[in-house]
Amino acid sequence: MKGKKNVAARIRLSTQLAFLLLIVLISLNHNLSSYGIQIPLVGSASLHAICPFGGVVSVYQFVTLGSLVQKVHEASLVLMGIVFFLAILAGPAFCGWVCPLGTVEELMGKVGRRIFKKTYNAFVPPVWDKYLRYLRYGVLAWVVYTTAMTMQLVFVEVDPYYALFNFWTGEVSLTAMGILAATLIGSLFIERPFCKYLCPYGALLGLFNKVRVFTIQRNPATCINCKACDRACPMNITVSTADHVRDTQCITCLKCTSEVACPVSETVELMVGRFTAQPADAPSAGPDQSQGSGVEKMRAKSGVQTANREVVK
Ligand code: SF4
Ligand code: SF4
Repeated sequence: MKGKKNVAARIRLSTQLAFLLLIVLISLNHNLSSYGIQIPLVGSASLHAICPFGGVVSVYQFVTLGSLVQKVHEASLVLMGIVFFLAILAGPAFCGWVCPLGTVEELMGKVGRRIFKKTYNAFVPPVWDKYLRYLRYGVLAWVVYTTAMTMQLVFVEVDPYYALFNFWTGEVSLTAMGILAATLIGSLFIERPFCKYLCPYGALLGLFNKVRVFTIQRNPATCINCKACDRACPMNITVSTADHVRDTQCITCLKCTSEVACPVSETVELMVGRFTAQPADAPSAGPDQSQGSGVEKMRAKSGVQTANREVVK
């Protein structure tokens, strides 16, 4: 079982590293193309062309004026469509599996975790954290408003994602470099600080958690209340008390699931429908409860009592 857990975590890490490498190569290729050099099989689009957020801010202008924001390519609208479709299915999976800035924050976080151990990601008092999380909606409103007013991709002036992959070009503003430095240093103390508090794209995608089809679900009937899911969650979501995670901060990283952190099999899962097994001391819901979806029937059949579960030591 331990091996299976490592496999799940490795698949996500491999996916993240593959996208990180792809963006590095595309960015390098774009810069090398001005010297007539081309890396084989790699596109040379600018990062603006492959920025899905560029697509979001363009929608307003496209609808009202029929044109795109400067520097934004049609490709970013296509990318936005793909990311939104994915978000309807499984929330901000883009953040947890694709975004190269999120990946770099996570890699820095691994260093921070080694340094600070249990105190890592616990430096911001919960009462501050609760309010700071609204900041990213303020940033989202500011970006959409100012972009619509100026018809320029204003976010690039403060964008650590753009700065990370272009810092050597001389095109990056000092403000963006400063925010990138603060993000990288902050990641040594707090898991994904930019994602949590400032990212306007994460703010937008997070709203899909309220309506997404596949959700993170916890089966209270088999949960042993060990809180391993809470400790594993990079976004500080209290999974151990939620039957159904609908928090806008969830990035679908799956770290809390029985495939990774939860020691009890089939207790935290990404799924459609709901767990139907009742706690051991609760009365049976009767035969009607197994009349739901195929997934529900499977859960009802296999997950009745904690004692029957496999607990991974
Ligand atoms: S709730 Fe689970 S899937 Fe969502 S961010 Fe936390 S650990 Fe990741
Ligand atoms: S890790 Fe699993 S068993 Fe432990 S509290 Fe979370 S859901 Fe319950």
